[in-house]
Amino acid sequence: MSALSIVADHVVVGGATPEVIEPGVVIVEDGLIVSVGPVRGARPRGRDVVDLGASVLMPGLVNAHAHAPMMLLRGVSEGHSLLTWEGWLGSIRSKELHLTPDLLAASTLVGCAEMIGSGTTSFADQYLFADAYVDAVASTGVRASVAYGIVDLGDDDRRDASLIAAEAFVSASDDGLVDRWIGPHAFFVDNRIDTVRAEFALARRYGAGLHAHYATSTEEDDVCEEQFDRSALAMLSELGIADVPVLLAHANDVRVQDLDLLAATRASLAVAASVAMISGAHAAPVRAALDAGVNVVIGTDNVCGNNNADMFEELRTLGKLVAFAEQRPHAITPVELLGMATWRARDAMGGAAGDGVLTEGAIADLIALPVAALHRGPVGAQSVHSALVYGASGFDTTHVMTAGRWLKREGELTTIDLPAALARRQADFDTLMARISAA
Ligand SMILES: [Zn+2]
Repeated sequence: MSALSIVADHVVVGGATPEVIEPGVVIVEDGLIVSVGPVRGARPRGRDVVDLGASVLMPGLVNAHAHAPMMLLRGVSEGHSLLTWEGWLGSIRSKELHLTPDLLAASTLVGCAEMIGSGTTSFADQYLFADAYVDAVASTGVRASVAYGIVDLGDDDRRDASLIAAEAFVSASDDGLVDRWIGPHAFFVDNRIDTVRAEFALARRYGAGLHAHYATSTEEDDVCEEQFDRSALAMLSELGIADVPVLLAHANDVRVQDLDLLAATRASLAVAASVAMISGAHAAPVRAALDAGVNVVIGTDNVCGNNNADMFEELRTLGKLVAFAEQRPHAITPVELLGMATWRARDAMGGAAGDGVLTEGAIADLIALPVAALHRGPVGAQSVHSALVYGASGFDTTHVMTAGRWLKREGELTTIDLPAALARRQADFDTLMARISAA
């Protein structure tokens, strides 16, 4: 594949620094970035040049906690908290018991379309029957880790069948940009200790990661204190959280005194501010976690709990929530927020050093928005980073590229037939509701 030069008035490099190259050029070849730098002299032209003009080019956003197939159930749980046992069991789990794998592929495409369409170039997913929708994810060209969801709930037969299916799933052949992970729904709460041990063993054997809900409330700590006389993070440390990539989603009630157990491990907290607020839950201790050296990343969670898969919306929601919780403006800065949604998230998902930053040798995952879409203040008054976090909407992204391939170009999705996927989702939903009515 020949090299492609992408030119823009503003190139946000990403990483820990606020560097912006104005104007800049990013050269992409074979799925990787081969150079990043300022435009010197006249802007380049030619067949292998895409000049985005008055746009911001930046690293693609990474949604570190998603459930793409749950687009099937969008809306069914409004008014319920999915972060409590009763709310989840009553409004979601009761319907999932009637789910079959054939009902998930179209909804997954709808989920991918919304994520890609709003500037997400990779995401970490976790849901039931992952083997039934992993091909749909792969077909979109997005980068992802898809975790095979395991719900135990004390049912030995279900547990054994899920573990066998999960092993078949993670041992299957390579899917290119999609990594296969294990997805314990929630450690200790609905995955018993023996199940959790088996999940860690599977992850180690196949080089997979674990993606679980964690501390949506105090349930894990309550269970572990009662059964094992120690905190949930102490239990996870004993089980080997240091040597397996682990995404701990939500972390609303993670104990601050336990955060040191996570520093220098491969575990990351994937916080989801919108769903915490909608559900009336606590704010995750993001500032304390970052200060303790814990990797913190950002997810939207499912659209049933959040009704939003736009990471830009999630970025500013988290920025506001942390400031509110800490009672301090910019308790987390725009550069930090963008880092959590880019390079930190790629690191959490097992990416190579440099990924999630526009730098030589990194993956060519990038997005662009018109400058006008940032609703930025005067130059000198507001940084590009602040405007991206607090002014931009993901659906204003005009270009989205994963691994050097355009997934959205000039405002149009290139790999997903969204009208067809939406029509099929409606049919799948009607099938599920008819099944539930007849039960
Ligand atoms: Zn979730």
